[in-house]
Amino acid sequence: MKPSLTGIVLEELADFLQTHGAPSYRAKQITDWIYKKRIASFDAMTDLPNELRAQLTAEFDTPKIEVARILGSKDTTQKFLFRLCDQNLIESVLIPASPALYGQPSDRRTICVSSQVGCAYGCKFCASGLDGWTRNLDAGEMVQQLIEIEKICGEKIDNVVFMGMGEPLANLKNVLRAIRIINAAWGIGIGARHITISTSGLAPQIRELANDTTQFRLALSLHGATDEVRGRIMPVNRKYPLKVLLEACDYYVAKKGRMTFEYILIAGVNDSDEQAGELAKIARHLAAKINLIPYNTVEGLEWSRPSRFRQEKFQSFLREHGVTATLRREKGHDIAAACGQLRLQTRIGDPSRPGPLVRAATV
Ligand code: SAH
Ligand code: SF4
Repeated sequence: MKPSLTGIVLEELADFLQTHGAPSYRAKQITDWIYKKRIASFDAMTDLPNELRAQLTAEFDTPKIEVARILGSKDTTQKFLFRLCDQNLIESVLIPASPALYGQPSDRRTICVSSQVGCAYGCKFCASGLDGWTRNLDAGEMVQQLIEIEKICGEKIDNVVFMGMGEPLANLKNVLRAIRIINAAWGIGIGARHITISTSGLAPQIRELANDTTQFRLALSLHGATDEVRGRIMPVNRKYPLKVLLEACDYYVAKKGRMTFEYILIAGVNDSDEQAGELAKIARHLAAKINLIPYNTVEGLEWSRPSRFRQEKFQSFLREHGVTATLRREKGHDIAAACGQLRLQTRIGDPSRPGPLVRAATV
């Protein structure tokens, strides 16, 4: 497979032009076509010489992700089902104004991007992992989710979270490339503080990110404050138990400044005062803010969210112990509900062939 047009990085393009004897100013011309004018074919880049257009066409693929289905309406959370060139299906979500998200009052439209088809990490509560892992997305396929959604909704996206299908840190190289494109002035131009990677806790990659110069925010899906509880719902905790994970987080915070915790509240599993106490200790140690997310029920799975009373008690407990914790309130604005665990509903394609599960949503 050739690399995709929307995964092109300016510096590499400059190298490509040099090897092909074309002037370097063409690089910016080409990225303008791709990321500013959003033209998906080299043939349409009318101010480039024919020869160069042909050379580019030979080297890069034009994007082939297409919308298979859209759920929701313009004013609410919208879910987009995309079909990739190999017929695999992924989901992206568009969430309108979400003032509470990561504490940025200016948030307008947030897109939740998938980084893989399926997920290998098999968290017990998550719909994305139920069907296993199929493949990584390349950077172009990640950037393309954003470009397509902006095209459809006709508005600019302000905030990008890698909280769709997949574990971004298991596809780190491509995710970092996508972030460079999303962040760059020559690319999509979204500020680094408005780009968040969420991880289930791959300790070695968290260390690697600490040393990487790409700018973004990091959110850790903690969901359990002891090995016993976390291990029960997140198999990744066996590979990277809390001690190992939190040491990597220490290292990350020392280098990069801060990280956020996500903590889904699952009734009778991780919502006790004891867990809140342990969580407060961990958060204080890392000076991390916590986003509490009431669990969203997934069809066929046994878990449920605690009562509102219990959710608020958990939050108050954290606050009383000196930790900043937000609790998501509005259903339609629930980013996790939108991204990680949409309800399993349809299996598209030939039912006799094992294919990706389509997590269609109830909005
Ligand atoms: N693999 C990464 C990013 C994708 S999941 C990660 O695990 O962080 C994005 C977020 O959605 C994670 O915090 C995940 O735990 C959460 N999530 C998954 N299923 C959920 C559900 N049913 N209800 C609420 N949050 C869920
Ligand atoms: Fe994968 Fe994240 Fe879902 Fe866990 S929560 S299965 S890591 S997508």
